[in-house]
Amino acid sequence: MKQRALVWFRRDLRLADNPALRAAVDGGYDGIVPVFIHAPDEEGDWAPGSAQNVWLHESLSALSAALEALGSRLIIRQGPTEDAIDALIEESGASALFWNRLYEPKLRERDDQLASRIATDHPDIGLESFQAHLLNEPWDVETRQGSPYKVFTPFWKAIKDRGIRQPLPRPAALPDVWSRIGSLELDALQLLPDINWDEGIRENWQPGEDGAHDRLETFLADAAEHYDNDRDHPAVAGTSYLSPYLHWGEISPFQVMHRTEEWLAEQSGGAVHEHMASFQSEVGWREFSHHVLYHFPKTPDMPLDSRFESFPWRHSEQDFKAWTAGRTGIPMVDAGMRELWSTGYMHNRLRMTVASFLTKNLRIAWQHGERWFWDTLVDADLANNTLGWQWAAGCGADAAPFFRIFNPARQGERFDAKGEYVRRWVPELSDLPNKHIHKPWDAPDDVLENAGVTLGDTYPKPIVDLKVSRRNALEAFDQVKN
Ligand SMILES: Cc1cc2nc3c(=O)[nH]c(=O)nc-3n(C[C@H](O)[C@H](O)[C@H](O)COP(=O)(O)OP(=O)(O)OC[C@H]3O[C@@H](n4cnc5c(N)ncnc54)[C@H](O)[C@@H]3O)c2cc1C
Repeated sequence: MKQRALVWFRRDLRLADNPALRAAVDGGYDGIVPVFIHAPDEEGDWAPGSAQNVWLHESLSALSAALEALGSRLIIRQGPTEDAIDALIEESGASALFWNRLYEPKLRERDDQLASRIATDHPDIGLESFQAHLLNEPWDVETRQGSPYKVFTPFWKAIKDRGIRQPLPRPAALPDVWSRIGSLELDALQLLPDINWDEGIRENWQPGEDGAHDRLETFLADAAEHYDNDRDHPAVAGTSYLSPYLHWGEISPFQVMHRTEEWLAEQSGGAVHEHMASFQSEVGWREFSHHVLYHFPKTPDMPLDSRFESFPWRHSEQDFKAWTAGRTGIPMVDAGMRELWSTGYMHNRLRMTVASFLTKNLRIAWQHGERWFWDTLVDADLANNTLGWQWAAGCGADAAPFFRIFNPARQGERFDAKGEYVRRWVPELSDLPNKHIHKPWDAPDDVLENAGVTLGDTYPKPIVDLKVSRRNALEAFDQVKN
């Protein structure tokens, strides 16, 4: 009797270090059916946003090509997932179903239901799920008191020296998929936008497993040895840009950790170890955000610190629109928001700056910013985005205290001293001298005139006064802090 296995690809769009695929290969199955099921409704309120969909389209296309090169092909189906899996079991005669685990609350619920239903309806099917997306399962890390961590440093201390498994090899070849098992065309998923706003994403990124490894190698060759100095300077390509690849599982955290260790072993000098430790601890923040989401599944919508449930947020559609459009009149904020719109990415320093500005200076609830990021980031990730927004708003795990309000002009002066980042994204200010580029409202008239800047015409006047809005935010916090 022929044995066949279904390998259900989800956010693990890679062939190397893919435990579900490896289980099928090592299990000696003579039929292996790689399948992707598009079921965004099953993610509840957090179905992938527009930028993620563009990425997903390209990534599935890359995975399809990679599978074909090994003699296989990707079967694409639409949800509901349970129906699609039932149909595939029927059509393929599969006796096993393998997948890699994810941790978003809705997906866990869906996967648990699916597993128990298959166990009941198809008791002969061997089901197995694997750890592939995180170095540590969220339930495998706990404080001495047996509770989840809410602070990063002790969390990372508890796990950073735990051994991790070696990455698994990529299959050398895969069995052909029976021609009678049909697949949808990728275009049928309608992941791409009707209007052409996604050019910037295409120009800046190469989704897929090869793109992920190229990115990691570029980072190691060009930026890793200065990571801790450059990571805060948005005009410099000083970080790895691996976030969308890690989100979609085009590279695994195991591969990232092992490759960086291997690279480190080839380097000399102590400083490089510190830079790499700093980079690896950022990968640790990703572990932490998943740990927090797993243990506090309501946090995408609700503040972890319940005092903030009654925070007096402001409602201003006009200010929110100015923020999304990069037209607040505050150059660092506008530069960050325009980078996001053009490329699907925003530098971390800017994510913190624009989020602080929205939640504190504009006093607009963090959930609105979180949604905008969700729709526009190619790396939008429920765990990381939730943690980032709650951190910035001062209401989350290990959050910046509310009273720590970033001054965006000062952020610019410190981290973009030569104004290169602002000039790149806010070209209408490019002729302003460095001294004034982060605070055009303070520039003398003749300086503005010489730079061709007319506030309120060629570039907006600030929509809020930074000092007054800071004071108002602190007063609002006084109302809830006890
Ligand atoms: C308001 C806000 C929203 C954010 N939303 C997201 C999001 O939706 N998706 C996302 O991946 N990151 C998010 N981040 C975290 C961080 O900004 C990005 O991970 C980082 O900028 C990605 O760039 P990189 O890959 O070059 O990072 P690197 O500095 O090269 O870091 C390496 C990897 O570590 C992880 N990482 C780095 N910083 C963090 C962090 N603070 N929290 C969790 N993981 C981290 C990422 O997977 C990243 O790819 C957010 C941060 C803030 C302040």
